[in-house]
Amino acid sequence: MIDLRSDTVTKPDEAMREAARDADVGDDVYGEDPTVNELETRVADVLGFDDALLVPSGTMGNQVAVRTHTERGQEAVLERESHVYKWELGGVAQHSGVQTRPVDGDDRGVISAEQVREAYVPADGHRAGTGLLALENTHNSKGGTAIAPEAVDAAAGVARERDVPVHLDGARLFNAAAALDTSAERIAREVDSAMVCLSKGLGAPVGSVLAGSDEFVERARRHRKLMGGGMRQAGILAAPGLRALENRDRLAADHERARRLAAGLDDIPGVAVPEPETNIVVAETADPADEVVDACEREGVGCVAFGDYRVRFCTHWDVDDEDIDAALSAVERAVE
Ligand SMILES: *Cc1c(COP(=O)(O)O)cnc(C)c1O
Repeated sequence: MIDLRSDTVTKPDEAMREAARDADVGDDVYGEDPTVNELETRVADVLGFDDALLVPSGTMGNQVAVRTHTERGQEAVLERESHVYKWELGGVAQHSGVQTRPVDGDDRGVISAEQVREAYVPADGHRAGTGLLALENTHNSKGGTAIAPEAVDAAAGVARERDVPVHLDGARLFNAAAALDTSAERIAREVDSAMVCLSKGLGAPVGSVLAGSDEFVERARRHRKLMGGGMRQAGILAAPGLRALENRDRLAADHERARRLAAGLDDIPGVAVPEPETNIVVAETADPADEVVDACEREGVGCVAFGDYRVRFCTHWDVDDEDIDAALSAVERAVE
């Protein structure tokens, strides 16, 4: 099975398993796990924030961020196809009691400064007001689009001028940085908090990190505990996470493979694929997506339906060039 369903399917390599085994650990709820502390400091440094917090999943990172930034009843401005809005079980309502004000980004998921200006609601006697702007980069549902730092700055700037904090869902922020040939720190320069996943393209078995100011992280730590995310000897997870951070250099190879996969798929009759910006390839299919996914699975390729006639394929470090060739032949057989 060539599993292209997601970049979360990667299995930890020997070095990560060894790092987990040998990790120096302590009780992280007491702040005593040296490996977790090292990972949090390291990610804060890489992203250009004061401090950071290890969380079990990207979803928890986003939810803790929303809870920490907002007060109940406030509005969160977010992109209509964003993960926080679409794929987290309505968590912002459940955990934070905020109402959402979804905005339609452009076809790459970019929210403009003008849209933030229009969406903003000041607090008064009748309205709770805007409490958060949430951005996403790369934008998953729009096909892994890598949004330029200037576009992030522009939207964030409008929010911050109005004292509205900005959270960046950077589950694949390092993919964006690699694609744009810039740093994650640069992309996150004008936001107040950023979440990155270690368990996607970087290959760690578990873990995401939420970064922000000292004051933000101190409060976020309480919300993590509230949501049940306080872990004990979590250095076992942080150690492979530290190794995963070193895999940032490898993301460009995933992007190259995604381009090759996309070009090959686009040559197959009944499949149309735009050039991917990162490691996510979204194919428009003539046949219903569910049928294509089933047929691909029978031919030994894993992919997911991403709409009625859209199928998503992800490249990641457990697939090599030969796998891409084999996957292309398999998809061709599947749709013929
Ligand atoms: C995967 C993903 C998340 C959530 O991460 P989990 O670890 O699966 O909870 C959040 N945002 C985006 C954009 C994602 O792609």
